[in-house]
Amino acid sequence: MARLVMKFGGTSVADVDRIRNLARHVQREVEAGYDIAVVVSAMSGKTNELVDWCRIASRFYDPREYDAVVAAGEQITAGLLAIVLQDMGIPARSWQGWQVPILTSDAHGSARIADIDGSAIFKGFEERKEVAVIAGFQGLHKETGRISTLGRGGSDTSAVAIAAAIKAERCDIYTDVDGVYTTDPNICPSARKIDRISYEEMLELASLGAKVLQIRSVEVAMKYGVPVHVRSSFSDRTGTMVVGEEGFESVAVAGVAYDKGEAKVQLVRMKDKPGVVAKIFGMLAEHNVSVDMIIQSPSRGGKDTTDVTFTVAKSDLPRAKELIEKTAAEYGSEPVEYDPDIVKVSIVGLGMRSHAGVAAKMFGILASEGINIQAISTSEIKISCIIAAKYTELAVRALHEGFGLDKAPVA
Ligand code: ASP
Ligand code: MG
Repeated sequence: MARLVMKFGGTSVADVDRIRNLARHVQREVEAGYDIAVVVSAMSGKTNELVDWCRIASRFYDPREYDAVVAAGEQITAGLLAIVLQDMGIPARSWQGWQVPILTSDAHGSARIADIDGSAIFKGFEERKEVAVIAGFQGLHKETGRISTLGRGGSDTSAVAIAAAIKAERCDIYTDVDGVYTTDPNICPSARKIDRISYEEMLELASLGAKVLQIRSVEVAMKYGVPVHVRSSFSDRTGTMVVGEEGFESVAVAGVAYDKGEAKVQLVRMKDKPGVVAKIFGMLAEHNVSVDMIIQSPSRGGKDTTDVTFTVAKSDLPRAKELIEKTAAEYGSEPVEYDPDIVKVSIVGLGMRSHAGVAAKMFGILASEGINIQAISTSEIKISCIIAAKYTELAVRALHEGFGLDKAPVA
């Protein structure tokens, strides 16, 4: 029998009425003849509450106990959904991560799945025609036997990994939006739902802040070739298929993303000699400050001096400042400039590999809106520009229209 994984996020399980509403999706697929594993998140807001409780209990909590606490949210929704399904006459039982078992690394709070044994689930399918309702986000460390969790948003990853383990035909991710959009509909009214997107593009969009899927879930889907269908639990409409890049025409630009989470740092007129940047970035890395864009160029007018511009997460800025000031002083920089009022706008598309001139077009669109570009970075399928934060909406809308994303692609 064909197998299906269905995952429901926090808003879809927010209360018992919503759980009853989502159960009809499960019923529909049972009637279509699938063997089904359902993966659930905690009720929306629950995990935040549990995390807060740990912080209130101690500033330096034991991460193993943190996992014991935060894994509880999913245990509740898995049990409740099993009760609701049974009430509808559908055989079902709940499974916690350790019962499956879903084995993980010991990185408590952000563990990685190491192995999933699907045999007990298969037995339930074969012997009892039973829907397996699995608590997402949680697992069991393979050596210590302690409960682990996969990092925030991790139930997406649970779902995709289970789909790979039980060789499901597809992993349906039910959420509160009806798919992946060409850009954020909240700031760009002409944003459209994308019908199909490749794993690679989705990975870039997720890294750039599109929050529909946890990044790691896309990595797992790509690694095992699991087709993922992102769709709304509040309608029956089809959503966005996230699939391999074979078999569909890639467009130059599939989506526009923006990220307001970074701040710009500029070191001006530093002594230009070997080891300067190694020193700065080595020290930041040592203190777990991750750096995104980096630009180094000779200082204008300065002799044997260099300017270094880079971005760090805004939340890391206070920590980074302290570290940077020390090094800057050592290498004779002029006062360091910090600018948190920036945004990174990016365009993503597989077709960039084969279409020339995409970057030039992006710069031209921003220029025609009078928007100054402060830094640029590119990868094979992405171009990002740092601009002033006040131009976010203008830039996103202009790029969205300029690359024709407001119009449905010609089939
Ligand atoms: N409940 C967990 C969280 O909020 C996992 C998830 O919902 O994916 O991060
Ligand atoms: Mg989520």
